[in-house]
Amino acid sequence: MTMVADDIQNLEARHVLQTYRRQPIALVRGQGVRLFDSEGREYIDLLSGIGVSALGYGHEGLTRAITEQAQTLLHTSNLFYHPLQGQLAARLTNLSGLERAFFCNSGTEANEACLKFARRYWHTLGEARPEIIALEESFHGRTMGALSVTSDEHYRTPFEPLMPGVKWISASKPQAVLDAVTNKTAAIILEPIQGEGGVRPLTPAFAAAVNEASQRTGALIIADEVQSGCGRTGYPFYSAVIGLKPHLMALGKALGAGVPVGAALVSSEVATKIMAGDHGTTYGGNLLACRAALCLIDELIGGGLLSHVGRIGQHFDRKLQELKAKHACITDVRGAGVMRGIELDRDAAAIVPAGLKRGVIVNRTAENVIRLLPPFVITEADLDEGLARLDQALGDITA
Ligand SMILES: *Cc1c(COP(=O)(O)O)cnc(C)c1O
Repeated sequence: MTMVADDIQNLEARHVLQTYRRQPIALVRGQGVRLFDSEGREYIDLLSGIGVSALGYGHEGLTRAITEQAQTLLHTSNLFYHPLQGQLAARLTNLSGLERAFFCNSGTEANEACLKFARRYWHTLGEARPEIIALEESFHGRTMGALSVTSDEHYRTPFEPLMPGVKWISASKPQAVLDAVTNKTAAIILEPIQGEGGVRPLTPAFAAAVNEASQRTGALIIADEVQSGCGRTGYPFYSAVIGLKPHLMALGKALGAGVPVGAALVSSEVATKIMAGDHGTTYGGNLLACRAALCLIDELIGGGLLSHVGRIGQHFDRKLQELKAKHACITDVRGAGVMRGIELDRDAAAIVPAGLKRGVIVNRTAENVIRLLPPFVITEADLDEGLARLDQALGDITA
């Protein structure tokens, strides 16, 4: 059964580098939390383009803001000032407590920037700090630096040798952090909720050990909030929820609500060690990107979206507990806000096509986990309908 319009699929098969395994549908339109494919079928989106489309589709405020920006000015490069970068940086400082922002275009670039800034910090201080500590089950992106601190062997092996000096520790052992971090450690990089690794929140005990190890040795803490940040958990950033005190933070995914934008936030202590010319990007922080991110932050704070995610998150939690009680194949449900994982006692790959047949978009990660990252704007009614479809799909794959 080919479900996608043949011409779309055939053209790609001839000309697009085959790095992705796509589902056999082509999405052509969205409205609210619903997506429509080339054959006119409707899906409830519980994934938002892997945690990106925070405001759903066809959002009035975002559409107006980026249309207006396109009519005014899209891009200037970083050779000149424009009015929006400073505004966005100030908003991000208010939310994170980190004083300065560097803008880029993706999550992996944000991590790349954080790694470079950590190295630069120690270089400026004249101290040799060759090591980075990273976590098992981590994902930080696909460029060479970010890949070097990403744990999955399948992603890493074909591209070795990677950046040297990376040491791996388990997120379930606070003592491992205390043992591994020394005065040779430049930085510890970690996701407050490990996303690709199976939606695994770090514990406050682990965060406390990271803080302690950092205070003892001076090692910097890099929080990769690309997936868990920008309101997805009902809080601006999940670091604060578990008590983690990062010096650097990587942002991406939901930040531009669909417009590509990433950011590396740094403390003033780190910022003073970074000089003009140390890092840069042509597109980074252009007007379109900043306008979209400002729109998201306006919605989160002024528009009440952050508290909406908090409320929806509680409802989500109850619904997932019900689902777990109903399906024996569910071994655990985890997460916060609208970032949730459903762990199965088996490989979860079959849930994706089964979901599409039932009209719901979900994702599988870490082999046996169904990952749900719906748009922040989802209502209880739409979430219930999406989860009812997932419930049917679970029945289909276990029947
Ligand atoms: C998605 C993700 C990245 C990579 O972001 P890209 O925009 O795909 O480069 C990095 N870290 C985490 C935690 C992510 O979820």
